[in-house]
Amino acid sequence: MKFIDEFRDPAKARALLASIGNLAAQLQRERPLHLMEVCGGHTHSIFRYGIEQVLPRNIEMVHGPGCPVCVLPMGRVDDCVALAEHPNVIFTTFGDAMRVPGSRKSLLQARAEGADVRMVYSPEDALKIARDNPGREVVFFALGFETTMPPTALTVLRAAEEGIENFSVFCNHITIIPTIKAILDSPDIRLDGFLGPGHVSMVIGSAPYEFICRHYRKPLVISGFEPLDILHSVYLLLKQITEGRCEVENQYRRVVPDAGNTAALEAVQRVFELREFFEWRGLGSIDHSGVRLRGAFARFDAEKRFSLPNLKIADPKSCQCGEVLKGAIKPWQCKVFGTACTPKTPLGSLMVSSEGACAAMHNYGRMDLIRARELQKERE
Ligand code: SF4
Repeated sequence: MKFIDEFRDPAKARALLASIGNLAAQLQRERPLHLMEVCGGHTHSIFRYGIEQVLPRNIEMVHGPGCPVCVLPMGRVDDCVALAEHPNVIFTTFGDAMRVPGSRKSLLQARAEGADVRMVYSPEDALKIARDNPGREVVFFALGFETTMPPTALTVLRAAEEGIENFSVFCNHITIIPTIKAILDSPDIRLDGFLGPGHVSMVIGSAPYEFICRHYRKPLVISGFEPLDILHSVYLLLKQITEGRCEVENQYRRVVPDAGNTAALEAVQRVFELREFFEWRGLGSIDHSGVRLRGAFARFDAEKRFSLPNLKIADPKSCQCGEVLKGAIKPWQCKVFGTACTPKTPLGSLMVSSEGACAAMHNYGRMDLIRARELQKERE
């Protein structure tokens, strides 16, 4: 398949791995090099294609917090359920958020009990449902990083233009830069470089990452999602590290313009403003890491139209999602991985979305799990 096969070519993968091996052999370090892939899409590819297994042993991939469903705190899921259970509400959501556990139930369970929860593929689908049901309140569950903010912003602008009065947005959009900063400031995390998120960067471009090199002296390579993209990005990171350079590089230039998407950023600026802080599952509150609708669009803000529980709910004690999200432990090191917590019976959100590190490892990485446990034993 053109544009896919060329990024999965085994001969090219072997050549890249040989180059990575040569650079890795030059590293003079007491501990393995820790490279964090920020984006859940990268985590999925890394497990799916067994990339961790073929890298030299002194390179470890650390799985970051870039899966928006995974970082949704339990209290926000409870707010979704409360909205969905409102008698006059049609609650619309992307499919992967349906199974995220709240403290009482998930949206899927709420639907089974009679709530009108509908799966949509875009905010525009939700707006259409609002047009078709003028007697009902239609709420769109907006979540995701900068990648999904522009469609939500454009839909709110369209609803305003059309004078639609029964449509609102429960806004859970989050921003990537403050999150990377929070991880870099975390005392228990030692990272040596980043694979930068490909989709977010399509919108924000490469300049917002420059502080990571300037202030923290860590290189970052914006990466595509195919196996050769990821191997090439690891190679570029190693090259920077072995040459003593520290820069933002754009490996995914075929998709990511260095300047980002100006029209999308303008729509986002018009509709959203930063919240002072936003709660993340397992990571706590991070300053300026979420957005809400500006005052001019308050009538489309579900948090203003409805009264919500808005409670802070702690994860179950056995869950170690926060430690996995920060890269402090691997998914298989969580006490309930593969036993009490599986994709069929998720305790934590990382086991729900296909981009969650735990689900990706469970679905694709059983051999990795065995090897990782053996490696851990060897190290101990
Ligand atoms: S195994 Fe389950 S509880 Fe443990 S970190 Fe993963 S998702 Fe969270």
